[in-house]
Amino acid sequence: MPEATYFFPEGFLWGTATAAHQVEGDNTNNNWYAWENESGHIYQNQKSGLACDWWGGRWREDLENAARDGQNAHRFSIEWSRVQPAPDKWDDGALDFYRQMLKGMRELGLTPVVTLHHFSDPLWIYEMGGWENDRTPEFFEKFVRKIVAAFKDEVKLWVTLNEPNGLVVNAYIDGSFPPGKRDFKAAFIALKNLVRGHALAYHAIHDIQPNAMVGYALYYRGFFPKRDWFPPDYWVTKTLKRNVNDVFANAIRSGQVNFTFFKTFVKEAIGTQDYIGLQYYSSDLVSFNLLKPGEFFSKREYPKDAALSKMGFIADVPEGMAQGLRWAHQFKLPIYITENGVEDPDGSMRPTYLLRHLREVWRAANFNWQVKGYFHWSQVDNFEWERGWSQRFGLWGIDPESQVRTRRRSADLYAAICKENGISSKTVRRLAPEAFDILFPA
Ligand code: BGC
Repeated sequence: MPEATYFFPEGFLWGTATAAHQVEGDNTNNNWYAWENESGHIYQNQKSGLACDWWGGRWREDLENAARDGQNAHRFSIEWSRVQPAPDKWDDGALDFYRQMLKGMRELGLTPVVTLHHFSDPLWIYEMGGWENDRTPEFFEKFVRKIVAAFKDEVKLWVTLNEPNGLVVNAYIDGSFPPGKRDFKAAFIALKNLVRGHALAYHAIHDIQPNAMVGYALYYRGFFPKRDWFPPDYWVTKTLKRNVNDVFANAIRSGQVNFTFFKTFVKEAIGTQDYIGLQYYSSDLVSFNLLKPGEFFSKREYPKDAALSKMGFIADVPEGMAQGLRWAHQFKLPIYITENGVEDPDGSMRPTYLLRHLREVWRAANFNWQVKGYFHWSQVDNFEWERGWSQRFGLWGIDPESQVRTRRRSADLYAAICKENGISSKTVRRLAPEAFDILFPA
C-alpha cells in the first residue's frame, strides 16, 4: 500500500494551550471565584477548586508529558490577581512561581506563549466595574509592564487578551460569564475598553521589548448561509461575521470600534498586532429569522451531517477552520492557531476532529500562508467556565478529586503528529483507523 505524509513547515510550533484559572486551582482573589461561589452560575454549582493543581506544582507533570510527547511549545496564562492582589500591592512569590514555570519550560524545550488576560480579573478590578470602567485599560497596562519587565528574556510571544470578542458576548450579552449582564450598551463600553487595554499593552510591551511578537487571540466562529438560494440568509450571515469575527479585528485595523448601533474611535489601537492568533472550535449554518431580533434576525444551527460532541457543544466542521484561516490570511501576518479542540470524554471523536482540522491547517501552510503553529485545547481536562467539569477537552483526562491523570488515545495520536511534524498514513492507520479513508482516500 502506498504511504503518504502531510508535512508541516520546518520549525512549526506544536503545543497545547491552558489558562490560569482553569488549571491552577486555589484562585480565590478573582471575579470567577466570586461568580462560582454564587449559586446558579455554574453547571451543577461546581467549582474550579484545586483545578489541575498547577499552583501546587503539578504543571511539571503535565508539561513533562507534553514535552515527552513531542510538543515544542506551550501556551499558558498569568493570573493578574495573583501578581497584583491589590492596586498597590505586587506579590513577588507569584512572580517567582511563573519564573520557575518558565525555567521548567525552557529545560523541557517548550517555547512559551504567554497570555496576559484569559477571562479572569482581580476582584479589585471587578469591584471597580471590570472592563466597563474606563480606567481598567491603564490598570491592565501597569500589570503588563510588570510582567514583561520580569520575563522579557524568557518570552517573545505575547497574547494580550484571550478572545476579547467572546468575552464581551459571554459577560455582557448572554450573561454566562461575570458580571452576567444582558446589555448591548455595557457590551460596547467593555469592548471599547478591551480594545484600549490591548492597544496600551501592545505599546507597553514594545517599549520594554522591541523585538517582541504581540497579538491577541480571536474567537473565530464559522458562519455559512443555510439556503444557497435565499439572499436574506447571506445578509444575516454577513452581519454575524461582522459582529462576532470582525468587530475586534476591525478596531485593530482602523481604530473604528463599531458594534451594533454604537461607534467610537480608538486611535492608539491602529496596527497593534504582529501576528494573528486564531481560535476555532465550530461553525453554524445561518438562516434569516424575523423572530430573533436579539440575535441580528438570525437562527443558527449545526449542519445535520456533522458529528456532534458529547454534550452537543461542538460540531465537527473543518470548513470553518478553512474559512478562519482564509480570513486570517488577509492580514498578511504570521498566523498561530492558539486554540482548537473538542469536548470528548471517551476519546471517540477527538482523533477524527483533530485530523480533519489539522488537514486544513496543513492546506493553508502549503498555500504558503504564514501558518506558524498549532495549540490544541487542551493538555489535560480542566475547569470549563460556566460548564464546570462537564466537558472534557484534554488529551489527558483528570479526576479532579484524586488529581490522577489518564492518557487518552488522542494523546498518542497528537504525539506522533508532533514528532513527525506531519500526519503520516502509518500513524493514522495505527492510531486513528476510523479516519484513514478521510485523510487518505483510495
Ligand atoms: C476558551 C477556553 C475554553 C475553550 C473550550 C475557549 O473559548 O478560550 O478558555 O476552555 O474555549 O471551552
